[in-house]
Amino acid sequence: VLPPGHQYVQLDGEVVLVTGAAAGIGQSAVRLFADAGATAIIVDLDAAAAQSLADELTQSGLKAFAMPCDVSDTQRVADVVRSVISDFGAIDVLVNNAGLFSNIPLIDVEQSFWRKVMAVNLDAVFYFSQAVARESMIPRRKGVIINTASLAGLVAGPDSPPYTTAKHGAVGLTKALAVEWAPYGLRVNALCPGLTDTEMVKKGWQGKEDALAQRLARIPSGRSSTADEQAAAIVF
Ligand code: NAD
Repeated sequence: VLPPGHQYVQLDGEVVLVTGAAAGIGQSAVRLFADAGATAIIVDLDAAAAQSLADELTQSGLKAFAMPCDVSDTQRVADVVRSVISDFGAIDVLVNNAGLFSNIPLIDVEQSFWRKVMAVNLDAVFYFSQAVARESMIPRRKGVIINTASLAGLVAGPDSPPYTTAKHGAVGLTKALAVEWAPYGLRVNALCPGLTDTEMVKKGWQGKEDALAQRLARIPSGRSSTADEQAAAIVF
């Protein structure tokens, strides 16, 4: 993470859409993108939090706009993409970052919860990537997609089969799209954060503090990463 005011990337004129952008890693990414001069589109289920972040950044002279959206709602995703392209001309960078954690054994997982975890962590990456690539990136031969997957997209830990399955899917989709869209000049990458200090971890590990402590003990630095550290990797 660079000191305040130090910019290692200039993104003036670029339109960057980040999902799950009102909190955690997504919010940190929006701040860095806006600081670098981009127009940041804040897509989140939490309309009030998205608007208050947009207001705060706008008052600081940066360019940020809130778009309330449940990323698992395919119709709403299509509407958001069309409306952003109509208002701002293009989407240059898409960060599929919204996520829903699960931390329960498979034996206790309801089918409806399994579907929801797939919808938010995996289906939404398909909906947004297809819409943005079709409407803006492929026709313009310009674009970068970054999917926030997880360490759970590479290896399995205890008690998270739906999340692990969805995140492995997100990594697979990232690889497939990187190959499919490279001929159009697009880059598609995934970020696989380990344990990161956000609300997701606070809520997801509530009542499982011993398991969380064991998890932390396996991290060589002895600490979780910060949202700002993950966001710096996204902007890079
Ligand atoms: P967070 O809970 O701090 O923030 C998530 C944001 O996404 C919230 O603003 C929430 O309102 C929004 N959101 C949730 N469901 C949504 C939906 N259906 N539609 C639109 N917005 C929605 O989470 P975070 O820790 O910053 O996680 C961001 C991403 O990083 C997720 O994909 C998560 O799976 C991944 N990740 C997190 C960690 C971690 O330890 N925190 C580790 C690996 C990967």
